[in-house]
Amino acid sequence: MLEDLMRPHILTLESYTSARDDFSGSADVYLDANENWMDFSGDGKNRYPDPHCAALRRKIEEVLGFKMENTVLGNGSDELIDMLIRLFADPGKDCIMIERPTYGEYKVFAEINNVRVVNVMLSEDLDLDVKAIKMEIDNSRPKILFICSPNNPTGKSFSISKIREIADYNPAITVVDEAYADFDQSFVSAYSLLERNERIVVLRTFSKYWALASSRIGILVASQPIIRAINKIKAPYNLSISAQRDGIKALEEREQRKAILSDILNERARLYKALSAFSFVRWVYPSDANFILIKVDDADGLYAYLMKEGIIVRNRSREPLLDNTLRITVGSKAENDALLEALSEREKSLVS
Ligand code: PMP
Repeated sequence: MLEDLMRPHILTLESYTSARDDFSGSADVYLDANENWMDFSGDGKNRYPDPHCAALRRKIEEVLGFKMENTVLGNGSDELIDMLIRLFADPGKDCIMIERPTYGEYKVFAEINNVRVVNVMLSEDLDLDVKAIKMEIDNSRPKILFICSPNNPTGKSFSISKIREIADYNPAITVVDEAYADFDQSFVSAYSLLERNERIVVLRTFSKYWALASSRIGILVASQPIIRAINKIKAPYNLSISAQRDGIKALEEREQRKAILSDILNERARLYKALSAFSFVRWVYPSDANFILIKVDDADGLYAYLMKEGIIVRNRSREPLLDNTLRITVGSKAENDALLEALSEREKSLVS
């Protein structure tokens, strides 16, 4: 049973009930939550926000198709990663598993929670090594296996059939972090697997395609026992009223926002081609996300040079399999032009 995978004390703990849980209808006078009656903001910020983010989750169901009964929202998907680890992994006893190189927060949140991290390397072509993963599942019995698709920092989406094979084999929880899914036009979400495998959890975020990194909105999609348990450990008011409104507005404006997707995809293609032409760029990794990873002759030198030119990229060279790599976000046309111009100058100085 799914509950058997959870830390037992969470199943029995009595969670906090907020004033908004005790009374959820509508009334004329609210004297139940010790708020300040004066609305200085003029738009209701003196009141606590809806702890269940019902209006935003309803909108998410309508626009993104994730059923309301299967979602819970976090203060960014980072908070959801932390909550999942706290729900399933016993500190000092259990482990989680990641496939490296990947997003750094799975490891950091596990370590903060005193939960061990088991690493399996991606294959040489930065794909999931299904055989190695299955072997390590048998060896280590991780409580959660994280798969990031499209993967950060490689930019590659993994095939849904590989993800299904791994999730079906894994007797515990498989979390598929789909933060960059919107940038892959042939993406198949692991949400499609949820009906036949209730141990799958999908993460999405408003920080990338929806352009709301500052509002901090993450979506966790899972079977209902997991949703119920997360709601038990979630801080009641983890999404501000502003964040909830921002999310609804973004989804309402979905038609106007489509243009930015084609802009980012066109710029990604332009950057891919232009970056491949520099003599010091050894490899440009094909990307399904809104960033491009490149392998260069001297990543530390190039990083320092670009920083001096006022252009900040991410040096990923310390990651396994990724020596001498830089990760570059696809920016606006002007930003990408500035990058390419700086790289052309670098090329000229190397030649002369
Ligand atoms: N997952 C991945 C793969 C990411 O790259 C990031 C942010 N860089 C996150 C999750 C966290 O996103 P959020 O802003 O929703 O916390």
